Amino acid sequence: MHTAARTHSFTESVIRGMTRLANQHDAINLAQGFPNFPSPTLLKDAAVRAIRADLNQYAITWGSARLRQALADKYRDWYGMAVDPDSEVTVTCGATEAMAVAMLALVDPGDEVIVFEPFYENYGPDAILSGASPVFVPLPTSGSFDLDRLRHAFSSRTRAIIVNTPNNPTGRVLTGDELSAIAELCCEHDSYAFTDEIYEHIYYQGEHVPLATFPGMRERTITISGYSKTFSITGWRVGTIVAPPEATDAIRKVHDFLTVGAPAPLQDAVAAGLETLDRTFYDQLAAEYRQRRDVLCDALLAAGFACTSPQGAYYVMADFRALSDRSDVDFAEWLTRDVGVAPVPGSSFYHDASGGRTTVRFAFCKTIDLLEQAAQRLQGVRAGEG
Ligand code: GLN
Repeated sequence: MHTAARTHSFTESVIRGMTRLANQHDAINLAQGFPNFPSPTLLKDAAVRAIRADLNQYAITWGSARLRQALADKYRDWYGMAVDPDSEVTVTCGATEAMAVAMLALVDPGDEVIVFEPFYENYGPDAILSGASPVFVPLPTSGSFDLDRLRHAFSSRTRAIIVNTPNNPTGRVLTGDELSAIAELCCEHDSYAFTDEIYEHIYYQGEHVPLATFPGMRERTITISGYSKTFSITGWRVGTIVAPPEATDAIRKVHDFLTVGAPAPLQDAVAAGLETLDRTFYDQLAAEYRQRRDVLCDALLAAGFACTSPQGAYYVMADFRALSDRSDVDFAEWLTRDVGVAPVPGSSFYHDASGGRTTVRFAFCKTIDLLEQAAQRLQGVRAGEG
């Protein structure tokens, strides 16, 4: 039978595949990034209340009025951005849908989309499904990116650049100077920036500054985020887009025909969370993640991995070359099967597999006791490979 040509250009998600492998071997799943701890009671109660109150039919396709207003208030209060909830906000089924619809709505076949590497694995396929070609630029875990290289990546065909800070998989946070340089290039080449700001509240140093707040960027930035990570609700699928009205019109059309809308009672609960939780909640979120980060990074170093402590998000890339000669895929499968800890092979974050050949990614969005169990198992890596 015939399958469409575009689907030949990418493979299935390695991250989600590792979850299946972890389940099969009963391994501690530090592969796919989802919390094993409960979401805030306030959110759960609000969702139950919404369902009991019969908020069970479609919300307006681009998002419930309550959530869009809560989002406009959030962007004003946190970042000083003036956002019109009626013409500039779209609620989607997760940030994953947000990125896909933004790309389908605003990128044409033949366009180029710049993607920093290592990258979260959805961006390349999103570009390809839009008929565009991804153009890759390295973003080192520490030290700045090569500005000349980025400048050369821009061409007359560049429609957009994807900017994910804090970064999945490295935890790297882009500096103000780096964001400024990106903004200038976008303005010079009349390109969009599609941002992925899903880790905006998970910072270990500094604080989040949306690219849209840089000079000239509000009218060309598609600001994407979501509540999977902030409210520990990855299964709810509530993502958000803030974009100028004309771009929002195009985005809403694609979103409408793809998914109609995100789950109505869950939108209501996310709105309740945004309206009610104060800075103490967000400070605590970051503080707890810092502890988890330190437990996992210490365990990795003690076990013989090399890694750089992330500045944000909840992943760490670990180099295992001092421990094993296996390929990253082999090592990740062996670690899952024989050691009982599942990571993601590093190569899945690079367009050329050799980029991640000696690394694996671990997620630390887990309770301390589970991370400690993983730490104990990881102590066996050296012996197992020796
Ligand atoms: N963002 C998470 C990760 O990178 C979850 C990915 C997913 O499966 N949607 O692991």
